Amino acid sequence: MSSDTPISWWRTEFGEPAIEAIAAAIRSERVGQGPLTEAFERDFAERLGMKYAVTVTSGSAALYIALIARGIGHGDEVIVPDRTWVASAHAVCMTGAKVVLADVKPHMPIIEEEVIESLITPRTKAIMPVHLNGRASNMDRILEIAGRHKLWVVEDTCQALFSGDSAGKFLGTRSGAGCFSLGTTKLISSGQGGVVVTDDPEYHKCLKLVKNHGVVDQFTDRWNQFGFNFKFTDFQAAMVHQQLKTIESRLLHLREVYAAYRDSVEKLSWINLIPFGSSNELPLYVDAVTPHRERLISYLREKSIQVRPHPPSLHTTSYLNSGGAFANSLRFNREGLYLPAGPTQPIQNIERVIDALRKFEP
Ligand SMILES: *Cc1c(COP(=O)(O)O)cnc(C)c1O
Repeated sequence: MSSDTPISWWRTEFGEPAIEAIAAAIRSERVGQGPLTEAFERDFAERLGMKYAVTVTSGSAALYIALIARGIGHGDEVIVPDRTWVASAHAVCMTGAKVVLADVKPHMPIIEEEVIESLITPRTKAIMPVHLNGRASNMDRILEIAGRHKLWVVEDTCQALFSGDSAGKFLGTRSGAGCFSLGTTKLISSGQGGVVVTDDPEYHKCLKLVKNHGVVDQFTDRWNQFGFNFKFTDFQAAMVHQQLKTIESRLLHLREVYAAYRDSVEKLSWINLIPFGSSNELPLYVDAVTPHRERLISYLREKSIQVRPHPPSLHTTSYLNSGGAFANSLRFNREGLYLPAGPTQPIQNIERVIDALRKFEP
Protein backbone atom coordinates (compact mmCIF):
# COMPACT_ATOMS: atom_id res chain seq x y z
CA MET A 1 0.00 0.00 0.00
CA SER A 2 1.43 3.37 -0.95
CA SER A 3 2.00 5.99 1.72
CA ASP A 4 -0.78 8.23 0.43
CA THR A 5 -3.60 5.72 -0.06
CA PRO A 6 -6.53 7.43 1.69
CA ILE A 7 -7.34 6.17 5.18
CA SER A 8 -10.95 6.74 6.23
CA TRP A 9 -12.01 7.36 9.82
CA TRP A 10 -14.11 4.18 9.76
CA ARG A 11 -13.58 0.90 7.93
CA THR A 12 -15.92 -2.08 7.91
CA GLU A 13 -16.14 -4.79 5.28
CA PHE A 14 -18.46 -7.76 4.92
CA GLY A 15 -16.91 -9.85 2.19
CA GLU A 16 -18.02 -13.04 0.48
CA PRO A 17 -19.86 -14.63 3.45
CA ALA A 18 -22.23 -11.64 3.64
CA ILE A 19 -22.77 -11.64 -0.12
CA GLU A 20 -23.51 -15.37 0.02
CA ALA A 21 -25.93 -14.95 2.92
CA ILE A 22 -27.87 -12.23 1.08
CA ALA A 23 -27.90 -14.19 -2.17
CA ALA A 24 -29.16 -17.31 -0.38
CA ALA A 25 -31.95 -15.30 1.27
CA ILE A 26 -33.08 -13.88 -2.07
CA ARG A 27 -32.83 -17.27 -3.80
CA SER A 28 -35.14 -18.79 -1.19
CA GLU A 29 -37.58 -15.88 -1.67
CA ARG A 30 -36.79 -14.43 1.76
CA VAL A 31 -36.99 -10.72 1.10
CA GLY A 32 -39.48 -9.11 3.49
CA GLN A 33 -39.53 -9.74 7.23
CA GLY A 34 -39.85 -13.49 7.90
CA PRO A 35 -38.05 -16.48 9.41
CA LEU A 36 -34.51 -15.11 8.88
CA THR A 37 -35.43 -11.95 10.79
CA GLU A 38 -36.90 -14.07 13.58
CA ALA A 39 -33.78 -16.25 13.76
CA PHE A 40 -31.57 -13.16 13.99
CA GLU A 41 -33.78 -11.64 16.71
CA ARG A 42 -33.65 -14.85 18.76
CA ASP A 43 -29.88 -15.14 18.50
CA PHE A 44 -29.32 -11.42 19.20
CA ALA A 45 -31.46 -11.56 22.36
CA GLU A 46 -29.86 -14.79 23.51
CA ARG A 47 -26.30 -13.51 23.12
CA LEU A 48 -27.17 -10.53 25.31
CA GLY A 49 -28.93 -12.76 27.85
CA MET A 50 -32.30 -11.14 27.09
CA LYS A 51 -35.73 -12.65 26.42
CA TYR A 52 -36.74 -10.57 23.39
CA ALA A 53 -35.25 -8.58 20.52
CA VAL A 54 -37.25 -6.58 17.97
CA THR A 55 -35.59 -5.47 14.74
CA VAL A 56 -36.45 -2.16 13.05
CA THR A 57 -35.15 -0.04 10.18
CA SER A 58 -32.57 1.95 12.19
CA GLY A 59 -31.19 2.70 15.64
CA SER A 60 -33.19 5.93 15.53
CA ALA A 61 -36.36 3.92 14.91
CA ALA A 62 -35.38 1.57 17.78
CA LEU A 63 -35.26 4.55 20.18
CA TYR A 64 -38.49 5.94 18.76
CA ILE A 65 -40.56 2.74 19.05
CA ALA A 66 -39.13 2.11 22.53
CA LEU A 67 -40.56 5.48 23.64
CA ILE A 68 -43.86 5.12 21.75
CA ALA A 69 -44.49 1.61 23.12
CA ARG A 70 -44.05 3.09 26.58
CA GLY A 71 -46.70 5.72 25.81
CA ILE A 72 -44.32 8.70 25.91
CA GLY A 73 -45.52 11.73 23.94
CA HIS A 74 -46.82 15.32 24.10
CA GLY A 75 -46.48 16.97 27.50
CA ASP A 76 -43.79 14.53 28.67
CA GLU A 77 -40.09 15.20 29.27
CA VAL A 78 -37.15 12.86 28.71
CA ILE A 79 -33.68 13.48 30.17
CA VAL A 80 -30.90 12.98 27.59
CA PRO A 81 -27.14 13.63 27.93
CA ASP A 82 -25.77 16.65 26.05
CA ARG A 83 -23.05 14.51 24.42
CA THR A 84 -24.50 11.98 22.02
CA TRP A 85 -25.31 11.61 18.36
CA VAL A 86 -28.36 13.79 17.70
CA ALA A 87 -30.58 10.74 16.98
CA SER A 88 -31.08 10.18 20.73
CA ALA A 89 -32.74 13.59 21.04
CA HIS A 90 -34.56 13.48 17.70
CA ALA A 91 -36.23 10.19 18.71
CA VAL A 92 -37.67 12.00 21.74
CA CYS A 93 -38.77 14.98 19.58
CA MET A 94 -40.55 12.63 17.16
CA THR A 95 -42.82 11.41 19.97
CA GLY A 96 -43.80 15.01 20.75
CA ALA A 97 -42.06 14.91 24.15
CA LYS A 98 -39.52 17.52 25.25
CA VAL A 99 -35.78 16.82 25.46
CA VAL A 100 -34.21 17.95 28.73
CA LEU A 101 -30.42 17.96 28.43
CA ALA A 102 -28.00 16.91 31.16
CA ASP A 103 -24.28 17.71 31.29
CA VAL A 104 -21.73 14.89 31.06
CA LYS A 105 -18.80 13.92 33.30
CA PRO A 106 -15.63 16.05 33.24
CA HIS A 107 -13.44 13.23 31.90
CA MET A 108 -15.96 11.10 29.99
CA PRO A 109 -18.79 12.04 27.60
CA ILE A 110 -21.50 10.08 29.46
CA ILE A 111 -24.34 11.48 31.56
CA GLU A 112 -23.36 12.97 34.93
CA GLU A 113 -25.87 11.04 37.01
CA GLU A 114 -25.58 13.53 39.87
CA VAL A 115 -27.30 16.29 37.83
CA ILE A 116 -30.30 14.12 36.90
CA GLU A 117 -32.39 14.86 40.01
CA SER A 118 -32.12 18.62 39.51
CA LEU A 119 -33.71 18.19 36.05
CA ILE A 120 -36.73 16.14 37.15
CA THR A 121 -40.10 17.93 36.97
CA PRO A 122 -43.68 16.64 37.32
CA ARG A 123 -43.61 16.09 33.53
CA THR A 124 -40.48 13.89 33.48
CA LYS A 125 -41.29 10.40 32.24
CA ALA A 126 -37.97 8.82 31.34
CA ILE A 127 -34.18 8.97 31.49
CA MET A 128 -32.18 7.99 28.41
CA PRO A 129 -28.53 7.26 29.32
CA VAL A 130 -26.32 6.97 26.23
CA HIS A 131 -23.40 4.54 26.57
CA LEU A 132 -21.28 6.59 24.21
CA ASN A 133 -18.54 4.66 22.44
CA GLY A 134 -19.14 1.67 24.69
CA ARG A 135 -18.68 3.65 27.93
CA ALA A 136 -21.00 2.47 30.67
CA SER A 137 -23.24 5.12 32.19
CA ASN A 138 -23.69 4.57 35.93
CA MET A 139 -26.76 2.33 35.72
CA ASP A 140 -26.82 1.46 39.45
CA ARG A 141 -27.31 5.11 40.33
CA ILE A 142 -29.58 5.92 37.36
CA LEU A 143 -31.92 3.00 38.11
CA GLU A 144 -31.98 3.99 41.78
CA ILE A 145 -32.93 7.61 40.92
CA ALA A 146 -35.52 6.39 38.40
CA GLY A 147 -37.04 3.99 40.94
CA ARG A 148 -37.37 6.71 43.57
CA HIS A 149 -39.07 9.11 41.11
CA LYS A 150 -41.07 6.42 39.27
CA LEU A 151 -39.36 7.13 35.96
CA TRP A 152 -38.70 4.74 33.12
CA VAL A 153 -35.18 4.15 31.75
CA VAL A 154 -34.30 3.45 28.11
CA GLU A 155 -30.66 2.85 27.20
CA ASP A 156 -29.20 4.20 23.96
CA THR A 157 -26.73 1.39 23.29
CA CYS A 158 -26.28 2.22 19.61
CA GLN A 159 -22.50 2.51 20.14
CA ALA A 160 -22.28 -0.18 22.81
CA LEU A 161 -23.19 -3.60 21.44
CA PHE A 162 -21.29 -6.27 23.46
CA SER A 163 -19.74 -3.64 25.69
CA GLY A 164 -20.02 -4.45 29.39
CA ASP A 165 -20.18 -2.63 32.71
CA SER A 166 -17.57 -3.09 35.46
CA ALA A 167 -19.47 -6.15 36.72
CA GLY A 168 -19.29 -7.69 33.25
CA LYS A 169 -23.00 -7.27 32.43
CA PHE A 170 -23.78 -6.23 28.86
CA LEU A 171 -24.91 -2.63 28.40
CA GLY A 172 -28.52 -2.23 27.29
CA THR A 173 -29.75 -5.13 29.41
CA ARG A 174 -30.65 -3.54 32.75
CA SER A 175 -33.44 -1.08 31.99
CA GLY A 176 -36.85 -1.06 30.29
CA ALA A 177 -35.28 -1.23 26.83
CA GLY A 178 -31.84 -1.35 25.19
CA CYS A 179 -31.69 0.23 21.73
CA PHE A 180 -29.03 -0.81 19.24
CA SER A 181 -28.06 0.41 15.75
CA LEU A 182 -27.07 -1.73 12.77
CA GLY A 183 -25.97 1.33 10.78
CA THR A 184 -22.76 1.32 8.74
CA THR A 185 -20.58 2.85 11.46
CA LYS A 186 -21.62 0.37 14.14
CA LEU A 187 -20.16 -2.97 15.32
CA ILE A 188 -22.31 -5.09 13.00
CA SER A 189 -24.30 -3.67 10.12
CA SER A 190 -27.11 -4.38 7.70
CA GLY A 191 -26.54 -1.03 6.00
CA GLN A 192 -29.40 0.41 8.00
CA GLY A 193 -31.14 -1.29 10.90
CA GLY A 194 -31.78 -1.31 14.61
CA VAL A 195 -32.83 -3.58 17.49
CA VAL A 196 -34.70 -3.09 20.76
CA VAL A 197 -34.15 -5.66 23.52
CA THR A 198 -36.33 -6.22 26.56
CA ASP A 199 -37.32 -8.87 29.11
CA ASP A 200 -40.93 -7.71 29.45
CA PRO A 201 -43.40 -9.87 27.46
CA GLU A 202 -46.20 -7.25 27.33
CA TYR A 203 -43.83 -4.50 26.28
CA HIS A 204 -42.33 -6.83 23.66
CA LYS A 205 -45.80 -7.36 22.16
CA CYS A 206 -46.36 -3.63 22.03
CA LEU A 207 -42.97 -3.01 20.32
CA LYS A 208 -43.97 -5.48 17.60
CA LEU A 209 -47.26 -3.67 17.08
CA VAL A 210 -45.64 -0.22 16.92
CA LYS A 211 -43.14 -1.36 14.27
CA ASN A 212 -45.99 -2.51 12.01
CA HIS A 213 -48.83 0.03 12.21
CA GLY A 214 -50.43 -1.80 15.12
CA VAL A 215 -51.36 -4.75 12.92
CA VAL A 216 -52.22 -7.82 15.02
CA ASP A 217 -53.25 -10.02 12.12
CA GLN A 218 -52.94 -8.90 8.52
CA PHE A 219 -56.17 -10.70 7.53
CA THR A 220 -58.35 -8.92 10.08
CA ASP A 221 -56.94 -5.40 10.24
CA ARG A 222 -58.03 -3.54 13.38
CA TRP A 223 -56.17 -0.76 15.08
CA ASN A 224 -55.81 -0.36 18.81
CA GLN A 225 -52.20 0.77 18.80
CA PHE A 226 -50.65 3.67 16.88
CA GLY A 227 -47.59 2.66 14.92
CA PHE A 228 -45.69 2.96 11.68
CA ASN A 229 -43.77 0.78 9.23
CA PHE A 230 -40.34 0.08 10.73
CA LYS A 231 -40.15 -3.54 9.56
CA PHE A 232 -36.80 -5.21 8.92
CA THR A 233 -36.07 -7.47 5.92
CA ASP A 234 -34.87 -11.06 5.71
CA PHE A 235 -31.97 -10.32 3.38
CA GLN A 236 -30.68 -7.70 5.84
CA ALA A 237 -31.16 -10.24 8.63
CA ALA A 238 -29.11 -12.79 6.66
CA MET A 239 -26.27 -10.28 6.20
CA VAL A 240 -26.12 -9.12 9.80
CA HIS A 241 -26.72 -12.55 11.35
CA GLN A 242 -23.64 -13.80 9.54
CA GLN A 243 -21.61 -11.06 11.30
CA LEU A 244 -23.16 -11.96 14.66
CA LYS A 245 -22.07 -15.57 14.26
CA THR A 246 -18.47 -14.50 13.67
CA ILE A 247 -18.49 -11.58 16.11
CA GLU A 248 -15.34 -12.64 17.97
CA SER A 249 -13.04 -11.54 15.15
CA ARG A 250 -14.64 -8.07 15.05
CA LEU A 251 -14.37 -7.67 18.83
CA LEU A 252 -10.78 -8.81 18.80
CA HIS A 253 -9.81 -6.47 15.99
CA LEU A 254 -11.37 -3.42 17.67
CA ARG A 255 -9.41 -4.18 20.82
CA GLU A 256 -6.19 -4.55 18.80
CA VAL A 257 -6.78 -1.22 17.06
CA TYR A 258 -7.37 0.49 20.37
CA ALA A 259 -4.29 -1.07 21.99
CA ALA A 260 -2.11 0.01 19.06
CA TYR A 261 -3.13 3.64 19.56
CA ARG A 262 -3.04 3.57 23.35
CA ASP A 263 0.61 2.62 23.67
CA SER A 264 1.76 5.33 21.24
CA VAL A 265 -0.65 8.17 21.97
CA GLU A 266 0.07 7.94 25.70
CA LYS A 267 3.57 9.23 24.95
CA LEU A 268 2.31 12.37 23.18
CA SER A 269 1.72 15.38 25.44
CA TRP A 270 -0.71 17.29 23.21
CA ILE A 271 -3.39 14.64 22.66
CA ASN A 272 -5.20 12.28 25.05
CA LEU A 273 -7.37 9.29 24.36
CA ILE A 274 -10.68 9.74 26.22
CA PRO A 275 -10.57 7.31 29.17
CA PHE A 276 -12.80 4.28 29.68
CA GLY A 277 -14.36 3.12 32.94
CA SER A 278 -13.34 -0.54 32.87
CA SER A 279 -11.73 -3.08 30.60
CA ASN A 280 -15.15 -4.67 29.96
CA GLU A 281 -16.05 -1.63 27.86
CA LEU A 282 -15.52 -2.09 24.14
CA PRO A 283 -14.00 0.89 22.29
CA LEU A 284 -15.99 0.89 19.06
CA TYR A 285 -14.24 4.10 18.01
CA VAL A 286 -10.90 5.57 19.03
CA ASP A 287 -11.85 8.94 20.45
CA ALA A 288 -9.41 11.55 21.68
CA VAL A 289 -9.24 15.16 22.83
CA THR A 290 -6.71 17.78 21.80
CA PRO A 291 -6.74 21.57 21.98
CA HIS A 292 -5.13 21.50 18.51
CA ARG A 293 -8.01 19.69 16.83
CA GLU A 294 -8.58 21.89 13.77
CA ARG A 295 -4.88 22.08 12.89
CA LEU A 296 -4.48 18.36 13.41
CA ILE A 297 -7.40 17.62 11.10
CA SER A 298 -5.94 19.66 8.26
CA TYR A 299 -2.42 18.31 8.87
CA LEU A 300 -3.69 14.72 8.63
CA ARG A 301 -5.88 15.54 5.64
CA GLU A 302 -2.73 16.49 3.73
CA LYS A 303 -1.47 12.99 4.46
CA SER A 304 -4.75 11.51 3.15
CA ILE A 305 -5.79 10.54 6.66
CA GLN A 306 -9.37 11.31 7.54
CA VAL A 307 -10.14 12.35 11.11
CA ARG A 308 -13.68 13.17 12.15
CA PRO A 309 -14.42 15.88 14.70
CA HIS A 310 -16.96 14.92 17.34
CA PRO A 311 -20.49 16.13 16.59
CA PRO A 312 -21.60 19.34 18.35
CA SER A 313 -23.04 19.25 21.87
CA LEU A 314 -26.82 19.05 21.56
CA HIS A 315 -27.53 22.29 23.46
CA THR A 316 -25.74 24.26 20.72
CA THR A 317 -28.71 23.42 18.46
CA SER A 318 -31.41 26.01 19.22
CA TYR A 319 -34.47 23.75 19.16
CA LEU A 320 -32.81 21.27 21.54
CA ASN A 321 -31.50 23.78 24.09
CA SER A 322 -33.50 23.27 27.28
CA GLY A 323 -31.33 25.68 29.30
CA GLY A 324 -28.62 24.95 31.86
CA ALA A 325 -24.84 24.90 31.92
CA PHE A 326 -22.74 22.39 29.99
CA ALA A 327 -19.12 23.12 30.85
CA ASN A 328 -17.96 19.50 30.61
CA SER A 329 -19.84 18.83 27.40
CA LEU A 330 -18.33 21.93 25.76
CA ARG A 331 -14.80 20.63 26.17
CA PHE A 332 -15.63 17.50 24.14
CA ASN A 333 -17.46 19.76 21.70
CA ARG A 334 -14.27 21.82 21.15
CA GLU A 335 -11.60 19.14 21.40
CA GLY A 336 -13.13 15.74 20.57
CA LEU A 337 -12.24 13.73 17.47
CA TYR A 338 -12.27 10.18 16.12
CA LEU A 339 -9.01 8.68 14.89
CA PRO A 340 -9.27 6.09 12.07
CA ALA A 341 -10.59 2.75 13.40
CA GLY A 342 -13.25 0.15 12.65
CA PRO A 343 -13.78 -3.63 12.67
CA THR A 344 -11.73 -4.13 9.49
CA GLN A 345 -9.39 -1.14 9.54
CA PRO A 346 -5.96 -2.60 8.65
CA ILE A 347 -3.38 -2.34 11.45
CA GLN A 348 -0.88 -0.94 8.87
CA ASN A 349 -3.23 2.04 8.52
CA ILE A 350 -3.14 2.60 12.27
CA GLU A 351 0.66 2.48 12.15
CA ARG A 352 0.67 5.15 9.44
CA VAL A 353 -1.65 7.36 11.51
CA ILE A 354 0.53 6.93 14.60
CA ASP A 355 3.63 7.79 12.59
CA ALA A 356 1.92 10.99 11.38
CA LEU A 357 0.79 11.86 14.92
CA ARG A 358 4.37 11.54 16.17
CA LYS A 359 5.56 14.03 13.55
CA PHE A 360 2.84 16.60 14.25
CA GLU A 361 4.15 19.81 15.79
CA PRO A 362 1.52 21.32 18.05
C1 LIG B 1 -25.88 5.63 15.45
C2 LIG B 1 -26.55 6.16 16.67
C3 LIG B 1 -27.93 6.33 16.76
C4 LIG B 1 -28.86 6.12 15.60
O1 LIG B 1 -28.72 4.95 14.93
P1 LIG B 1 -29.06 4.89 13.34
O2 LIG B 1 -29.04 3.45 13.04
O3 LIG B 1 -28.00 5.68 12.64
O4 LIG B 1 -30.42 5.50 13.18
C5 LIG B 1 -28.47 6.75 17.96
N1 LIG B 1 -27.69 7.03 19.01
C6 LIG B 1 -26.35 6.91 18.98
C7 LIG B 1 -25.55 7.19 20.19
C8 LIG B 1 -25.74 6.49 17.80
O5 LIG B 1 -24.40 6.40 17.74
